[in-house]
Amino acid sequence: MSKYDIVIIGGAIVGSSVAYYLRQEGFAGSIALVERDPRFTHAATTLSCASIRQQFSIAENIRLSTFTLGLFRRLKQEFGADADIGFRETGYLMLASEAGMPILEANHRVQQAEGANIVLEDAEALKRRFPWLSDEGIAGGAFGLSGEGSIDAHAMLSLFRKALRGKVDFVTGTVTAIERDGNRVTAAVLDDGTRLEAGTIVNAAGPGAGKVAALAGLVLPVEPRKRNVFVFEARERIEDLPLTVDPSGVYVIREGSMYITGGAEPHDTDTTADTNDFEPQWELFEDVLWPVLATRIPAFEAIKMTRAWVGHYDYNTLDQNAVIGPHPEVGNFLFANGFSGHGLQQAPAVGRAIAELVLHGAYRTIDCSAFGYERVAAGRPFSELNII
Ligand SMILES: Cc1cc2nc3c(=O)[nH]c(=O)nc-3n(C[C@H](O)[C@H](O)[C@H](O)COP(=O)(O)OP(=O)(O)OC[C@H]3O[C@@H](n4cnc5c(N)ncnc54)[C@H](O)[C@@H]3O)c2cc1C
Repeated sequence: MSKYDIVIIGGAIVGSSVAYYLRQEGFAGSIALVERDPRFTHAATTLSCASIRQQFSIAENIRLSTFTLGLFRRLKQEFGADADIGFRETGYLMLASEAGMPILEANHRVQQAEGANIVLEDAEALKRRFPWLSDEGIAGGAFGLSGEGSIDAHAMLSLFRKALRGKVDFVTGTVTAIERDGNRVTAAVLDDGTRLEAGTIVNAAGPGAGKVAALAGLVLPVEPRKRNVFVFEARERIEDLPLTVDPSGVYVIREGSMYITGGAEPHDTDTTADTNDFEPQWELFEDVLWPVLATRIPAFEAIKMTRAWVGHYDYNTLDQNAVIGPHPEVGNFLFANGFSGHGLQQAPAVGRAIAELVLHGAYRTIDCSAFGYERVAAGRPFSELNII
């Protein structure tokens, strides 16, 4: 078959979730889910830190994560008794210096208004709660008592893809061209020449979304940005370590008997990544991460890095926030892009939102209008301040 009602470009968590919710909402048309890397060796989804939080600065982002949290909590009802994505509700701990406190407080007010279970504490209270923490340079922090933690990204992706078996066509190939007839996209063309005629095209190409938009002659400020993740061992095991984010941007999380850390990329050299560059910048561990970790958590003075990996953020250079919905002029080209490091947790909500748009012509569960392309066209940022 080479004629589809909907062609989704990118079959990782966002593309799969769009397809899943289209079927959930009762879409009866044909769907092609196109993926160039069916083992997902380079997808942001599988190279992510796979965490979910409520601690955003924008209410709309909290609502997207809250929808996903609801799904995680009723996973077995939705996907069956065997469904397990290893959700560990360990919380996020966002630390702030004196200078950072007003922003943390403002964010906390937004989170409270959205019903997120986050406490804001001063340094003294934090030290009582987490005796392993050093409060050097810390005025306070916000901690998620529930609704935040980490999952297994591979397990989550395979749940969605398994649920799609027999319900969509899984197409393997790279989309290298998109055909247009005036203000409509009409087909996606693969590298082997296959032409997939399309009623609607959904861009779910992750860090490659800017390139895919360009194939349709559209501008989308989303590019790959390299993010290094290091795994280390420590003599001491900190059982209650939340995903802790230092004011410097360095984060650390426990993963079984190991720890994972990152957030060391300097802002001034953070530019578009070569799409084939997955080589860790090994020096970042010694030069940037380790000194911060040892200061913040003295038990991490003696640690041993064991391995590292690189993933690419789907980075929206305008405002580090998602772009969701149709192009205002090319209305049958839909964006689900630019999540800038928080797309895994937003994918189910965004899948649902796109499905509602397609089926009902409007958002019903979560209003995603603020994420629309119109702001990109106007160059008007809708900025998320809590980017990790
Ligand atoms: C190091 C790191 C840590 C992260 N941590 C978190 C986290 O803790 N929590 C969180 O919520 N998010 C996190 N993220 C972000 C999250 O991983 C992404 O926002 C999310 O996975 C995006 O999903 P996606 O399906 O859009 O993109 P991807 O997973 O990148 O999938 C896009 C797919 O499109 C395919 N594709 C691209 N172009 C084409 C084409 N032309 N033809 C065919 N196929 C194509 C690619 O092969 C790819 O498989 C992290 C990301 C990284 C890199």
